[in-house]
This record gives sequence, structure tokens and C-alpha cells, in this order.
Amino acid sequence: MNIIPKLFIFIVLQILLISIVNASKDYYDILGVDRSASKKQIRKAYKNLSKKYHPDKNPGDKKAEEKFIELAKAYEVLSDDEKRRIYDQYGEEGLNHGDQHFNDPFDIFRQFGFGGGEPRRQERKGPEINIDLEVSLEDLYMGAYIDADVKKQVICPYCRGSGAASQDDVHICPSCKGTGKRMIRQMLGPGIYQQVQTVCDACGGKGKTIKRKCPHCKGEKVVSGGDTISITIEKGMSDGHRIVFEREGDQHPDVTPGDIIFTIRTIPHPLFTRKGNNLYVKIAITLADALLGFEKEIHHLDGHVVELKRTGITPPGFVQEIYDEGMPLHEFPSEQGKLYIEYVVAFPTELSEEQKEVIKNNFSKVDSKIKDEL
Ligand SMILES: [Zn+2]
Ligand SMILES: [Zn+2]
Repeated sequence: MNIIPKLFIFIVLQILLISIVNASKDYYDILGVDRSASKKQIRKAYKNLSKKYHPDKNPGDKKAEEKFIELAKAYEVLSDDEKRRIYDQYGEEGLNHGDQHFNDPFDIFRQFGFGGGEPRRQERKGPEINIDLEVSLEDLYMGAYIDADVKKQVICPYCRGSGAASQDDVHICPSCKGTGKRMIRQMLGPGIYQQVQTVCDACGGKGKTIKRKCPHCKGEKVVSGGDTISITIEKGMSDGHRIVFEREGDQHPDVTPGDIIFTIRTIPHPLFTRKGNNLYVKIAITLADALLGFEKEIHHLDGHVVELKRTGITPPGFVQEIYDEGMPLHEFPSEQGKLYIEYVVAFPTELSEEQKEVIKNNFSKVDSKIKDEL
């Protein structure tokens, strides 16, 4: 094998690659992500790289510092739906036209939640969507996966949220040259003028005008749509527990979607009642069972059999306590609450003469022990 030409090609390719990156400074390349990368992937890439190139970790390293600033700029644009869309359509040039001012790279780093100070600007967030989720006690006992179909507003797939029929229909506003602002002269008094900045009325402050509106969304940028959300019901989750899906709410190009919040509502069970981590069951027994003892079994929420055994007398309303047969503890499901069985004695509705005779002969005296207690 001939190694030299291979190595040579490799070096040439490397040089080529470096020059391409330097020439375009593509934000996707800077973060090392695909053009179709999700917000999550972009976030992750920025998180890893910005930590690596943070000036604190590379004191005196000019290259690292440049890289850190570059990363923050790329992340600022690609993490913002609107800025990313402009960048995708018009490149860096498009961003410079609008009202885009680059923030302090340290500010972005802090916004990201790497400690040190509060984020300076609060992002605009859409409203929450609250949904009651009916869950069976069986599912709360065993855990389950539930798919919920959610209707929501989504970014128009036709125009990708630009509201324009085509890319050529989006124009930089000629009145404000894309800044969204205009300076007007106000007369304060005779011969005295003041320059005042106002929102551009031609574009409503957007900096862009749209010639032909998108026929799909009629320029609204959003359409009604839906989504299937997979919800994990964890063992032992309580009634009223809130499961939050961040940023899954209504979409709009100008705002961050709000959260979708599911609240667990337990469907009443015919046999079991839940109070906290304990379960309660009422069981009917015959008078003979109550007097002579019995063996019974009940099927638990997952179908396993619980043996109920009483040897002595079981008075009406007697409650038997069974350990570790209650609900599993949420986030600690190897531990369980208790199961309480309340016995309801089903007295006979009628007695034959024969039965009356037997009872009269055997149960006519009050036990002396009970007498003492009275
Ligand atoms: Zn304008
Ligand atoms: Zn549209």
C-alpha cells in the first residue's frame, strides 16, 4: 500500500474543510449540528461546546475566546425560532437587516442557566394548556403508557410560519428599512423640533412586509393541528399529580410555546378506594363466616390473589390491616402502603323455627366478660 498519497489527500481535505468553515461561518457548522437539528440538539451542542471554550477554562487563549463568542452568536440565532427562520431564508445578511442586536456572549451563557445572575430578558411564552387526564386505579398501581391526542395551533407547514406565499413575497420594509422603527419630527414649539422614535406603521414594527399572503394559513402563520403525546404514568402517582410537557402548547413564530399540563384524575374503582398510599375494600361475609371464621380471596388491581383468613369471630365493621398490599409509593415503588379490609356482616333476613331454637339455646346469655366491661 502506498501511504503518502492518502496522507496527502487527507491533508488537502482538511485544509479545504477549514477554509470552507472559515469562509461561511455557518451557524450550524459552528455548533456542529445538522440543518434539521431540533432545538434540543442545538441546546445540547451549545451546552457542551460553550463549557469547553469558556474563557475561565482557557485563560489567555484568544482562539478559545473567539470560539466562545462565535458559539454564543450561533446559539442565539438558532435557538430562536424567528431568528433561525430568517437565517435559513436570508442568511446572516437577513439578520443584520432586522432589529437584531447581538447580545453579550456572557449574557447568553448566563441565560442558559450556567449560574451567575438572572437572565436579562424574559422570553415571551404562550399560554398553558391544561388537560384533565382520567386514569384507572389499575394504571396508577401498575404504571402505564397513555397516548393522548392533543389539538393545538401549529406553525403553518406550507410557509413555515412566514405567513408569505413564497420566500420572494417577504420584503424588507421600505419605510423603516427593516428596523421596525421610524424617527418622526415633532414640533414642540415654534421652530423647535424633537426627533421621536415610533413603531413603523407600514409594517407594524416587524421590519418586513408580505406581498402575497400564504394561501394555506391566509397569512396567519399558524394553522390548527394536533399532536400525540405519550404520557408515562408512574407507579403510585397521586390523584391531582401534574405532568408537565414543556413548550408543547400552541405554536406561534413570535412566541415560545407554553407548556401542556396533564392533571391526573382517578377513575373511581368498583372495589378499591384509595386514600394516600393505602387502599380500602369492603367485603361482605355471612353470619356463619363472622361466627366461625373463613378463608376467602380477592383479586388485587394487577390480578394477583390476596388471601383473607380469619379463625375467630369477626364482628361487623371489623377492619383487617394487611401490610404491603396498598399502593406503591411514587418514585419508591418497592415500598407499598397498607390494604384495609372492612368486613360487612350480611345478617340473614329470616330464621326458621329450628334456627331460632338453636340460637335461643346457645346465645341467650351475655358473656360475663362483656358484662364487666359495661
Ligand atoms: Zn417598517
Ligand atoms: Zn402559511
